[in-house]
Formats: sequence, C-alpha cells, structure tokens
Amino acid sequence: MKVLVIGTGAREHALCRSLSQDPAVSELHCAPGNAGIARVAALHPVDQLDGAAVTALARELGADLVVVGPEAPLVAGVAEPLRAAGIPVFGPGKEAAQLEGSKAFAKDVMAAAGVPTARSYVCTTPEEAAAALDAFGAPYVVKDDGLAAGKGVVVTEDRAAALEHAAACERVVIEEYLDGPEVSLFAITDGTTVLPLVPAQDFKRALDGDRGPNTGGMGAYSPLPWAPEGLVAEVLESVLQPTVDELHHRGTPFSGLLYAGLALTSRGTRVIEFNARFGDPETQVVLARLRTPLAGVLLAAADGTLGELEPLRWSEEAAVTVVMASEGYPASPRTGDPIEGLDAAEADGASVLHAGTRSGPAGEVLTAGGRVLSVTAVGADLAEARAKAYAGVAEISFKGAQHRTDIAAAAAAGQQLP
Ligand code: AMP
Repeated sequence: MKVLVIGTGAREHALCRSLSQDPAVSELHCAPGNAGIARVAALHPVDQLDGAAVTALARELGADLVVVGPEAPLVAGVAEPLRAAGIPVFGPGKEAAQLEGSKAFAKDVMAAAGVPTARSYVCTTPEEAAAALDAFGAPYVVKDDGLAAGKGVVVTEDRAAALEHAAACERVVIEEYLDGPEVSLFAITDGTTVLPLVPAQDFKRALDGDRGPNTGGMGAYSPLPWAPEGLVAEVLESVLQPTVDELHHRGTPFSGLLYAGLALTSRGTRVIEFNARFGDPETQVVLARLRTPLAGVLLAAADGTLGELEPLRWSEEAAVTVVMASEGYPASPRTGDPIEGLDAAEADGASVLHAGTRSGPAGEVLTAGGRVLSVTAVGADLAEARAKAYAGVAEISFKGAQHRTDIAAAAAAGQQLP
C-alpha cells in the first residue's frame, strides 16, 4: 500500500512512524512533513490547504490512501477533491469537520443527538456576552467559535478578562464551567461503525501544576489507571455513536477520527469539545500502545469496511510523551536554533517525534515552531515510561527549551483523580 500523510507535526510523525512499521505499507510519503518525518517518509513540499495540489500529488504517487493529520486542511475541504478523484482518504469532509471547525455547530449536533455537554450560549455582541457570563457566573469559559489551534479558549475567574476575550473574537460560545478530570477518547469511524481507541490524558497548560496559558498540549499519557471501569463503553454509547449517527442522518457522514474531549464531572461525563482528527500529543501515546498494524485500520475507515475488522489489539504497557517547546511558546515562539542530543535520546530508549523542526543547510536539525519535539517512551507502568521519557528529554538541548516536569506524575504516583 502506498500511503500519503498530510501535515507537519509530531502527530504526523507518530502516524508516519506507525505506518512505516506496518508490513502492508510499501511506500510512505508526507506533505509537507518535517526533519524527523524525513527519516521515515519521502517529503513533498505541497501546501496542505490546497486540495487540488494535494490531489495532484496523490495521483502522481499512485497513493492507495491519504491520511489527513491536522484540522485546518479538513475544515478547508481537502478531503473532497481526493474523494472525487476516487482516492481513499482518512479524514472527514468539510461539512462533518465543522464538528471541530465551529463550536456552535458542535453544540447543535450534540443537542440533536442528546449528547451530554456544558450548557452554552452563542454570542456575537458584548451585551450578549455579558449576559451569558452573568447567567453562569465564575469561573467563566469563553471559546472562540472558529479554529484557534487549541488556544481560543479562556477559562478565568476575571470577568473583565472574559469580556475582553469575547470582544476579540467575532463569535463566541460561552458555557458553564465543568469541574473534574479530563479524558481524551479517540474513535475511528467510517461514518457508521465506531471503534474507540484507548483513553489518554493531555496537559493543556504551559506550566507545571496546570498554571499558565492554554497551549496545543504539553504532554500526555495512557492508560489512565484512575479512570472508572466501563468509561469507554459508556462514552461509545452516550457520545460517540449518537454523534456519528446524527451526522449520518444529516447526510454529512463523519469518517476518520472523532476525538471526544471529556470532563468527568460530579454530575457525570460531559463533552468539552470534539475534534475531527487525531489529537496532538495524545496520538503519540495512543499509537505507541496500538499493536494492530495501522494502515489497514485507516483504510477500512476510508473504505467504509470498519465493521469487518478484527478487534484492535493493544499493548498492556504504558506510554508517556513530554513536549519540548521553544522559548516564548505559546505567545511568541523563537525559532531557528540548532537542536542537540536527538540520537542520544533515542539511544536511551525514547522515541523522539518531531513537531516544529526543519533541516538546516548542513543537515543539522533546527527549531521551526512553538512545540518542537514530543519525546515519547513506553514502559511496564507509567512510572517507568515517565522515567524513560524524561531521560530522553534530559539528553536534548536547544536554546530556551522549555517543558513541563509533571507530565503523568500524579497518575504514576497512583493518585485517584489528577
Ligand atoms: P477546548 O479547546 O474546548 O478543548 O478547551 C481547552 C481547555 O479549556 C480544555 O481542555 C479545558 O481544560 C478547558 N475548558 C474548556 N471548556 C471548559 C469548560 N466548560 N469548563 C472547564 N474547563 C473548560
């Protein structure tokens, strides 16, 4: 099978690494990719938002499957021309991708499907926003309606700050605050059949102790020893299947990866958000535990034959990933610095997945984005996986590098609900 992966981040590197280990994959390509992906796939400098260019590349390569990693090309409608050309594509069409592209759309689908989520108002004026904030009280949750790379959400006790964020966005969703630990649960679907993956937890805030601004994600781990038994079955029944069924019913079936961001609140499980693609950095730990070869699963979702697949097989091992970010991330990341110690980290047993990197003129690896690397390791339990991931981080250096030191710490120490 010839596979083309679209995207540039550590999620795409994790996808490419798993695909490169699948004996069914004869050729692996990525557009545009990064310096790490270049080690396992042939790179092509194509604009990932340009559906015609991506389709032309897939045709030229004779791709049997195109896997679209990030949300932006999905929301821009890159899947449509590929499907029209008869090329199997893993990822939803533009309409179904609105589940991520518009928080207001997602709320509407959830209401129609009876999926439990935070009560909310969609607001377009400062007066509406103020009324919504006062209806729920503090802590205030204000979300940009459109795509914002995980950074469009403000959760604050400060009413003025909440109003300021609302004013900076064209359209906002203001919703009730959900307490309780968060879980990311991914499911692969062909629009009818839904196959949940193993749950993971990510760390959205920039600093230790969940302080600092929201980011794209600073680390993740799986499994969740503290999660209630039966969680996956419950979420499949109350969230994932009804959502997929609702989109099918609307005539815009969702195929690809449905990501449910959940809060386990005192009043039950609630959806915080949906994403229309693999989450980053949770993908790095979820795929590290998947034993079933990946390409056939993604192709079955693209082909509509997921119902015929054997149950997925998983490793009992634990996986932890720690994101190394550049100085100034998330506000104003510094780029262009050489990265040292990549091989040493891998020799120590960590798997270094590249996010924002590029190759320099002399073949050196340079920082090229906010999140630079995702250092991943597996171990017999979370404590071992964590120790190996942090040993890998300790080997790597670049100017101004920053990372959280508490990824998976509470869960590895056996705490019930981090
Ligand atoms: P989102 O982009 O919707 O996932 O939001 C980013 C982060 O903001 C989430 O992972 C939560 O930590 C937080 N958040 C979002 N919505 C809520 C909510 N209703 N209550 C509490 N925290 C929230």
